[in-house]
Amino acid sequence: MPNSCHACENTDSATKTLSARGVRLTELRRDVLQILHHSKHPVGAYALFDRLNSKGKASAPPAVYRVLDFLVDQGLAHKLHSVSAYTACCFGPHAHMAAFLICRDCGNVDEIKSPSLSAAAKHGFQVEDLVLEATGLCGSCQ
Ligand SMILES: [Zn+2]
Ligand SMILES: [Zn+2]
Ligand SMILES: [Zn+2]
Repeated sequence: MPNSCHACENTDSATKTLSARGVRLTELRRDVLQILHHSKHPVGAYALFDRLNSKGKASAPPAVYRVLDFLVDQGLAHKLHSVSAYTACCFGPHAHMAAFLICRDCGNVDEIKSPSLSAAAKHGFQVEDLVLEATGLCGSCQ
């Protein structure tokens, strides 16, 4: 198998990071991560079940949800609430605040470094988790 696939390299390096953390990447975790890395657009949980099924890897929905939660906890994926879908993290793997630009026309999603949270700090508030989702039109859809 030619190892020129950038998405597969991402999955490999995430796998190595997890094992360095002492976290076991089960086959299902790896499969889900690989699907996310290969998908240009965020993937909904049901689309994930379908892809796993079509690869002959039938899985119960609760198991897939647990895997998705795990990947989010590990900083490898983000949940986009506005489109009810998951996307592989571009800057991980570590927990961090994320900001997304979601095109409502083509469905393209870009992850950007999140804006500063100095306003929260001024209120003496310590932010632990934040996912910003901006919807609009991307450069090529305008
Ligand atoms: Zn690949
Ligand atoms: Zn991220
Ligand atoms: Zn677009």
